[in-house]
Amino acid sequence: MGELPLADAKALICAFGRRMITDRLVVGTSGNISVRAHDMVTITPSGVEYAELAPAAISVVDADGRLIEGEPPSSELPLHLALYGTGTHAVVHTHSPHATAAGLVTDEIPPIHYLLAMFNGPVRVAPYATFGTEELAAATTKAIEDRYGCLLANHGAVTIGRTLEAAYDRAIQLEWLCQVWLTAKNAGELRLLPDGELDRVNDRIQHYGAAAREPRPRQQEQRDL
Ligand SMILES: [Zn+2]
Repeated sequence: MGELPLADAKALICAFGRRMITDRLVVGTSGNISVRAHDMVTITPSGVEYAELAPAAISVVDADGRLIEGEPPSSELPLHLALYGTGTHAVVHTHSPHATAAGLVTDEIPPIHYLLAMFNGPVRVAPYATFGTEELAAATTKAIEDRYGCLLANHGAVTIGRTLEAAYDRAIQLEWLCQVWLTAKNAGELRLLPDGELDRVNDRIQHYGAAAREPRPRQQEQRDL
């Protein structure tokens, strides 16, 4: 992947920040997004309305979280930095309603639909910890291991990707999957995918999908679908 210029990273944060509102992934100033640019991280500032986000306000921090440019960063900076420490390139954190609701009632979104292959398997729920804490950052990093997203109990959702576009698309898909799961589980007994089906879907995507040139993901290396 090519390096993202800082100006492009800031513009992406502004654009996807606005989409967070129109796509109903967050309300008000909740949620936050970030993308890596060289050895810096650009992230939404703390407490700024998405509609008013301008490139000059976007927080630019170094790998240790020191503010280099812009407004003070989101309070979830520790969570974002922890995920960059595992080799990701972009992070989207939402409070989307169905993902948040699912995180109240389960420890995992089971293999209900082949689109869970976008997450490399069933999506786990990180145990609750107070927002903005290193404890939440650690719980999230553990829950998202070998995955491209997780839910945060009693809080929301986190998705990651090689690009902000990919992480954002996963946030949309995760919200949809949680809505489907909640609806189905309240309607009757769930029928899950056959064993091994998500791996078969992954293989098909590797062969035929847009990700054909991406390496097979496992630990830290991230893939886009
Ligand atoms: Zn949050």
